[in-house]
Amino acid sequence: MTHARPRRHRDLQNADYAEWRQFLRTTDTWSRTDIERYQLEAIQRLVARASTQTTGYRSLFDNAGVGPGDIATLADVRRLPYVTKEMLRDALAAYTATTEGCDYVTTGGSTGIPFGMYRTPQAFARELASKAHQYERRGWQEGDPQLVLRGLPIDTPDHTALVDDLNELRCSSYHLVPDAMDGYVAVARAYEPLWLRCYPSAGCLFARHVLETGQSIPSLRGILCASENLLPEQESLLRAAFGVPVFSHYGHYELAALAGFCEHTSRYHVLPQYGYVELIGTDGLPVTTPGGVGEIVATSFLMDATLFIRYRTRDLAVYAADHCEACHRPHQLWERVEGRLQEFVLSATGRLISMTAMNMHTPVFDPLRQFQFYQASPGEVEFRYVPRAEGVAAPALDAMRTALGHKLGADIRLSFRQVDDLPPTVRGKRRFLIQDLPIETLHGSASGHLHG
Ligand SMILES: [Zn+2]
Repeated sequence: MTHARPRRHRDLQNADYAEWRQFLRTTDTWSRTDIERYQLEAIQRLVARASTQTTGYRSLFDNAGVGPGDIATLADVRRLPYVTKEMLRDALAAYTATTEGCDYVTTGGSTGIPFGMYRTPQAFARELASKAHQYERRGWQEGDPQLVLRGLPIDTPDHTALVDDLNELRCSSYHLVPDAMDGYVAVARAYEPLWLRCYPSAGCLFARHVLETGQSIPSLRGILCASENLLPEQESLLRAAFGVPVFSHYGHYELAALAGFCEHTSRYHVLPQYGYVELIGTDGLPVTTPGGVGEIVATSFLMDATLFIRYRTRDLAVYAADHCEACHRPHQLWERVEGRLQEFVLSATGRLISMTAMNMHTPVFDPLRQFQFYQASPGEVEFRYVPRAEGVAAPALDAMRTALGHKLGADIRLSFRQVDDLPPTVRGKRRFLIQDLPIETLHGSASGHLHG
């Protein structure tokens, strides 16, 4: 099957997209000095705008005794107070410069703090262009045929749909059952996608099926993951199933920080044209030691309706360096994204345990098709599981109980519950942990457990 490229890819028809895409290309070789000049000017403009056009930021700045004239260097940014999800949720208008011509969009899935924000169409176009810019490092181009395994449910008979002007074959991540997945492989082999774009969780369910049934999609050149933290085990599984490199990035709805792999490495390069990103440790200072964990605090250069200035994302990353040895970009580099605060469970004694660490390197979970952790009260965790068709024997469950108990520790009471299905979220994501407790802060006492 051949792929006549559409005359213009849908995104390239958008002038904001095309312009930002070109800007990122021409500034990709910026030196550290170029980057710092650009970022400082962007922050100065943003702080001036926030203090004249929003009541929320103006009073925050007044209370902190800081104003637009005080930001003379990037180090001065630390004089600005943080803004949190709760502050935006409770007084959105106060942190919004304009609502005219904006879309009102909502987020909150993974943090448990749902809130809405105003976003201009231009900001969203720049977001798409920024992601495309990162994908291009792996050879992706607009118009390349791609298999997409994410997003909203698809209610056609085979749960697939073609989107011609994006060159996408979409497969529903809500129907990752063997029969439907066999259908996806067959349709994909005929479509000959160059790329698989997926949530890691959905991609891995698909990958495991492909491996177990000895199928393949030989046209694939790479896998582009998004929207969820890619765990090392997931990267290995995807690579084993499809035999191609895996790309991932960190991003979020608030469009304040974006960080992707480069041509050569699986480390996260913070995109400096997108936002100003700080990694703040438990001592309130920027993390500058390789291996150190900090909360991602981000100032968005894209969001010009609801403003995000020193926004606490509650996501944690592990610092690696201030540049990449492999591609030589002078970008802040993260070893990995450690998880979101909401991806931790809280023990009876107040320990935070990273669920990233719970992803076990053992075949102990093989008898299960899916599983998920659920927490509603401190010190108590429910393990919900869907067995494979052949069922799961009691000794296998005992082995899981032992392995999990060992990892979680004595101050967690673990209960098991068999379920028929673990439905994805409204956006089709598969969640590893449903955390119904608000995990408020990264306690200093818990930081020692971050590496699991
Ligand atoms: Zn690099």
